[in-house]
Amino acid sequence: MKVGIVGGGQLARMLAIAGYPLGLDFVILEPAEDACSSHLGEHLCANYDDETALAELAEKVDVITYEFENVPVSAIEFLDGKCPVYPPAQALACARDRLNEKTMFRELGIGTADFANIESLDDLKQAVVQIGLPALLKTRTMGYDGKGQQMLREDTDLDAVWKEFNGVPTILESLVLFDREISIIAVKNVSGEMAFYPISENHHEEGILRLSTSQVDDPVQSQAEDYARKVLEKLDYVGVIAIELFQVGDQLLANEMAPRVHNSGHWSIEGSVCGQFENHMRAVVDLPLGSTENLGYSTMINLIGDLPESMEVLSIPGVHLHLYGKSARPGRKVGHITVCEDSAEKTQKILDQVQVRLT
Ligand code: AMP
Repeated sequence: MKVGIVGGGQLARMLAIAGYPLGLDFVILEPAEDACSSHLGEHLCANYDDETALAELAEKVDVITYEFENVPVSAIEFLDGKCPVYPPAQALACARDRLNEKTMFRELGIGTADFANIESLDDLKQAVVQIGLPALLKTRTMGYDGKGQQMLREDTDLDAVWKEFNGVPTILESLVLFDREISIIAVKNVSGEMAFYPISENHHEEGILRLSTSQVDDPVQSQAEDYARKVLEKLDYVGVIAIELFQVGDQLLANEMAPRVHNSGHWSIEGSVCGQFENHMRAVVDLPLGSTENLGYSTMINLIGDLPESMEVLSIPGVHLHLYGKSARPGRKVGHITVCEDSAEKTQKILDQVQVRLT
């Protein structure tokens, strides 16, 4: 069976790596000639909205998926009908727009930060009174890793901030004083079978995910699963989905969702019976899902900006190294490391050694 992937970054690379043992082949649509997944399948080098290339992709494969949410919805709609595409276009349309996703969360009874749609300076001034400060002004679309957002405080000049955002659609969100940030990775296959990974506890710096730890028997697991189940059902979803959540006391508030495999689930490659990449592949070609059970206490550290010395890192027993084939560049995710041991203490001990080698 042949699978088409729109987008050719590290997520496409890890999807293909997980798909080969299942006998799957890949065609990857990606405009960058030297993309890090381009040699993991046939590479169609074209823009995501190039209809000739999209038609060629649909012609060549049995099913299509995508690796990130900045693919235009129109491209997925164009493919739909020519070839099965998962996750469905409506999930992408919802996830690309913070207003749509937060509105859907609320409709499903899923808590969120207070928010307001902002289309003018007047809207912004009114929303600040309603929601209070501090608050976050975020672009509705194309924001990721903390990009396209600004904190507003009592002394912020709203006129100046609004000018900076230059009329792009935004939402204002109350600042949540969370106890921790977590995410739930869930998966549903074409036949409707669902599975949920143990939640990840996530630590960000400068808006970028640095470290995720899979949680064992976490008290909010069932609340997170309940949220994910509602979203999967509402969107007629197929594939892996990630929902990022803030925990405040024993309450979970949804921040955003990603209609794809997610960085906070990378630990599952070695840390669960069947990792998120393999389960996404199983879901879209409609195979039975693999078990999402923890194999131990897993932590994943992102490698950002600099490439580590493989020799150094792998000389520590228990370390799994993933390099994405990308060159070093400030702020760029170039790989990750996972440690999965049979106790949290053992995992931490190895991580301490890793941190020393990385600094
Ligand atoms: P986002 O782009 O929405 O994923 O935001 C990136 C990071 O900013 C999140 O992982 C949080 O650490 C922080 N953040 C985003 N929205 C809020 C909020 N409403 N309250 C507090 N922190 C937030």
